[in-house]
Amino acid sequence: MDTPDEHSVREQLRSVEDPDLGDDLVSLNLLNEIEIDHDQEVVAIDLALGAPFSPTETAIAAETRDVLELGGYELDLSASIDRGLDPDDLILPNVQNIIAVASGKGGVGKSTVAVNLAAGLSDLGARVGLFDADIYGPNVPRMIDADERPSATAEEEIIPPEEHGMKLMSMDFMLGEDDPVIFRGPMVHNVLTQLWEDVDWGYLDYMIIDLPPGTGDTQLSLLQSVPVAGAVIVTTPQDVALDDARKGLKMFGEHDTPVLGIVENMSTFHCPDCGSTHPIFGEGGGRQLAEDVELPYLGTIPIDPAIRQGGDDGKPIVLEDGETGDAFREFVRETADMQGIVHRNSQRQRSPENPL
Ligand code: ADP
Repeated sequence: MDTPDEHSVREQLRSVEDPDLGDDLVSLNLLNEIEIDHDQEVVAIDLALGAPFSPTETAIAAETRDVLELGGYELDLSASIDRGLDPDDLILPNVQNIIAVASGKGGVGKSTVAVNLAAGLSDLGARVGLFDADIYGPNVPRMIDADERPSATAEEEIIPPEEHGMKLMSMDFMLGEDDPVIFRGPMVHNVLTQLWEDVDWGYLDYMIIDLPPGTGDTQLSLLQSVPVAGAVIVTTPQDVALDDARKGLKMFGEHDTPVLGIVENMSTFHCPDCGSTHPIFGEGGGRQLAEDVELPYLGTIPIDPAIRQGGDDGKPIVLEDGETGDAFREFVRETADMQGIVHRNSQRQRSPENPL
């Protein structure tokens, strides 16, 4: 091929399809920029991809590399997404995706899901932070066996401890152990302010926030304070948990927070002794809810004593071989893919070819 020019590169990119949005990158407005440096013989392409290490976006990047013929020029492929906000106004500007994990009520495995989502994304290669904002039961440090507490620099910046490759902050670190829960609500706003002003998170692809259960002040404070890119709703198959999940959905809806989908935890139990399957809390409720409210269904996590054991031992099960680990890994991939779809879809809607 001859020396590449912008037009030829653009035309070649028309053969790369976005499998979810069903059109090519150029038509979808997913091509941010092409820059050609003829001295260095480099073609720099910036694509509007926003969910690093998600299977779909990884595949799109790989296909882009495959199809391009650049006449011996080197390809410098990057990705960036316009979050629709002025960079100067941006809270946590170095955090690409803030994903909130929510549930209508406690005890459905919300923290377990948050921890495994964070650990799973980290295992895919992403830079991940995990923020345990559950003021009523900040148990994430135990679940990932964080024995270290945050440290502070001379400039009074807080350095979060790292565990399983994730940076961790927890209300547990910030609130005194003996603070009565009644004081915690009003303190949350201050703590959240510290979270983005004083904590050195560095550059993160994802920050996973474990919200307190329910739809109270903390959740609202958080939604008003940080740009949440997506929310995951955790439910069990039980009716009452499903009702609570609906309330959570309404809360996110009122704040225009994209809900990535619903994950059902504590689904069937595969009995290792008798070999059969027992739907202890009922069956299929999460999928039904997802259908009713027309949201994606992100996965089914079985009841498995190893999950509780993993939580107690500080080793997230998503990092282990086996069926339950597979279920979590599938959920992690689905969630990352949905976050990518949300970003690419809003980028498409900003396209001059696709006015809203
Ligand atoms: P929440 O954050 O919703 O209050 P947790 O994640 O703290 O719930 O989970 C409550 C308890 O249930 C923990 O002991 C956890 O290890 C256990 N647990 C959560 N999900 C499962 C599961 N799928 N199978 C077995 N135990 C689970």
